[in-house]
Amino acid sequence: MKFASRLVSFDPAPGDRFRPISTPIYQTATFEQEHADSFGEYDYSRSGNPTRAVLEKHLASLENGSRGFCFSSGMAAISTVTKLLRSGEEILADSDLYGGTCRLFSKILDRSGIVARYADASDPERFEQQITPSTRLIHIESPTNPLLRVIDLRRIAAIAHDHGALLCVDNSTMSPYLQNPLDLGADIVLHSATKFLCGHHDVIAGAIVVKDEKLAEQIYFVQNAEGNSLAPFDCYLLLRGLKTLKLRVDCQQRNALAIARFLSSHQDIQRVYFPGLIENRGYAIQRSQARGAGSVLSFTTGSVELSKAIAEHAKLFRITVSFGSVNSSISLPGAMSHASVPPEVLAQRELPPDLVRVSVGIEDEEDLIADLDRAICRAKKRTSIATGAEIPR
Ligand code: PLP
Repeated sequence: MKFASRLVSFDPAPGDRFRPISTPIYQTATFEQEHADSFGEYDYSRSGNPTRAVLEKHLASLENGSRGFCFSSGMAAISTVTKLLRSGEEILADSDLYGGTCRLFSKILDRSGIVARYADASDPERFEQQITPSTRLIHIESPTNPLLRVIDLRRIAAIAHDHGALLCVDNSTMSPYLQNPLDLGADIVLHSATKFLCGHHDVIAGAIVVKDEKLAEQIYFVQNAEGNSLAPFDCYLLLRGLKTLKLRVDCQQRNALAIARFLSSHQDIQRVYFPGLIENRGYAIQRSQARGAGSVLSFTTGSVELSKAIAEHAKLFRITVSFGSVNSSISLPGAMSHASVPPEVLAQRELPPDLVRVSVGIEDEEDLIADLDRAICRAKKRTSIATGAEIPR
């Protein structure tokens, strides 16, 4: 079956005698047992819940894996992966990474004796040089958030395995519709399901999918032991949102490409970061490993004031953190989603302070371009007045 069919064709309620077409919300903490000395399929919702089980199986199938796990947030999913490491072991992560992931790696994991280091994975040779005998996990996003750098996933998977490390790919900017890291050699694929999987900015959730049964058992053990799984109602909302993933992403990508082209040719925009533009450094690799460029893009203006004013003057693009929703959004990563990057990590990475990130939604393409055009024009006037410069015409 093609992806569009797979999104809606699955058993929504295994074993349910009423045969509902949408998955029921099994809003129960515990399940009555027939015997006092053995358990049935479900016993307690932290350990397993039928609504969650449908979602986990569905996601595993969409990512071409064998087992899926859903969590109360993307961060809970990432935190679970880090539990595969022991004190003294290291994570080597790409240097362009979601701010909260850096915070977890650098400010929480050190308490358990796990070391996180960062290097630019878009330069695989130099990245490999940073691997040490203690490196147990390589963690990357592709395209990265917020610079949309493309990482050669096949290459990094081979490097990880040569050194006996696991590769975890955060696939949040792509979704399984556009990219399947497990097929490219990754051991673990992970999502902030808050983003494209949900698609409506109404759920905070995370997901992990793996192929390897042993790895699956270890992840299930942590999920159950730590109790960070996704609640049934949120699972239901994700199952509902997922059905339109292809429709949403097709439309979002079309809009994003038009906006990237518009911004690239705009005299007040310095640089556009989007792997769907042929002049982007990652264009060819993106085409070789993904089925599209997605709908998150960033740009710089050369002035923090101007970037801030553009965000504040846009109307259809609302100022919000996060991405992947049907609504377009705009943000300044340096001040918002990536403000939590520890200063010592920030010093080593490229994060232009005037960087604006937009997540393109399903609104009308012409309306979106007109909104940005107007916002840039008004922002220019505002910043010119503030600095006493000549008002542009
Ligand atoms: N991974 C990426 C790439 C993200 O952008 C985010 C959040 O923005 C996360 C993980 C964390 O996900 P959550 O906010 O669902 O905990």
